[in-house]
Amino acid sequence: MDNALRLQYLEAMGIDVWVPKAAPATDERLLPLVDSAAPAIAASAPAEYEPTPADPDNWESLQAEVTVCRKCALCETRTQTVFGTGNKQADWLVIGEAPGQSEDLQGQPFVGKAGQLLTEMLRALGLAREDVFIANILKCRPPDNRDPKADEIEACHAYLQRQLALVQPKIILAVGRIAAQSLLKTEAPLAKLRNKVHTLGETPVVVVYHPAYLLRSLPEKRKAWMDLQLAMKTYTEG
Ligand code: URA
Ligand code: SF4
Repeated sequence: MDNALRLQYLEAMGIDVWVPKAAPATDERLLPLVDSAAPAIAASAPAEYEPTPADPDNWESLQAEVTVCRKCALCETRTQTVFGTGNKQADWLVIGEAPGQSEDLQGQPFVGKAGQLLTEMLRALGLAREDVFIANILKCRPPDNRDPKADEIEACHAYLQRQLALVQPKIILAVGRIAAQSLLKTEAPLAKLRNKVHTLGETPVVVVYHPAYLLRSLPEKRKAWMDLQLAMKTYTEG
């Protein structure tokens, strides 16, 4: 992606970018500045599926299982499950927390306001939504967008594991605290988890701020851009 376009996306994210006048902008020179003046805008579970060489997993059966899943109480309140979407052979697996209202209604992850910002964040990396696979820790919306409960994360965990095994991504982007903590099995705060490269098996995991949080805290967008740059560096060098 050329730099003019990149600048446009960064601006859409609300990131001020300093570009030197004398020289054409290169990636290293795209230094975002903090805009500090900006205002903040159970039913009993069936036996766990284990793929075997004779019965390998596949997208169709996985999606069919999720669609009718009743492994936790969220099945009572959801409109529909939100399986995930995108390139099933993507290098990038983007993992959010759980569907919100728009996602629950549309059956697609990250399609609400936060989703639009996530799309811009990916764009800033030169990635289209269709290039990556986007999924959530939970496939069903928690009522009133409350935080996922531990037993819900536990019940839904196997689906994400199977998505991960099917995509075999080169990098995982954990979007927000809940996704990062559940994936990395830690209770460390986001500030401790971002700005470093974790691994899940062999796969590098980079933690980024949740776009819903960025929508509330515009100054953090500079840090968000740093997270994205770390992800791209990890991917490029990996
Ligand atoms: N927030 C998330 O974490 N996931 C979505 O799909 C939408 C909003
Ligand atoms: Fe099943 Fe996951 Fe939905 Fe719970 S959140 S009902 S485990 S798909």
